[in-house]
Amino acid sequence: MTPLADAAALTAAWQDKAPGRSPHVLALDWDGTLVDLAEHPDAIRVPPSLPSLLNRLHNPPGRVVLIISGRARDDLARHLPGFAGVLLGNHGAEALGTVPPCAWRQMISEWARRVPGVWLEDKGATWCVHWRSVSAVERPRLLNEVQAFLDAAEDPVYRARWGHMALDIVPRAANKGTALAAWLQQHIGADWRTQALVAALGDDATDEDLFRVVEPQGLAVQVGDREPTRAAFRLPNPTAARRWLADRAEGA
Ligand SMILES: [Mg+2]
Repeated sequence: MTPLADAAALTAAWQDKAPGRSPHVLALDWDGTLVDLAEHPDAIRVPPSLPSLLNRLHNPPGRVVLIISGRARDDLARHLPGFAGVLLGNHGAEALGTVPPCAWRQMISEWARRVPGVWLEDKGATWCVHWRSVSAVERPRLLNEVQAFLDAAEDPVYRARWGHMALDIVPRAANKGTALAAWLQQHIGADWRTQALVAALGDDATDEDLFRVVEPQGLAVQVGDREPTRAAFRLPNPTAARRWLADRAEGA
């Protein structure tokens, strides 16, 4: 694994950049970043202290927390009762309004139905094909099948994005990075890059779009050992991410 700057270096960079910039924004992915991944999206375990930690970090106008996830906004809200910060769901697709139907939808759901261990998660504006429950022996064949499907399929509106043992089907216009940039532009202003300090934490390939948007003025933090990444910093797992955030809540 490529060594990246660690939690201590991240804290030093945060403390170096923070003075004179406002607000301080934490743009956080959810699964694999704040909570451990689970066999099924409904099976995640949310640490009881997490909602209050996030609320302590969200204290506008000086401190803002945005959760930017592939989950639907309502799903995030269900896991974070009382969260006062900002929830951007479905990779930002929910902000796009009505999107035309996906030509792949039927083909994908039929395929998912006949392959044991594969299931299709309907998140409203996006879909996700999961194969975490497929045995390791079966996975290479499965991935070849998925790749063959993608090579043959074309959809002007939707695209497929590989995730962690999952394939996200999202509108081409939806992107976590553009969703974050649009929010920052609307709520802070066109000069948000120089006014605000933004740190983005994420574990998956779709979080690279967040990293691209916050760099170089902000901080891009890969959670976990995924490679390659454009992030300059790495926290090893969600526990370490929550610990780093808890230190920020204490004002360190
Ligand atoms: Mg994630």
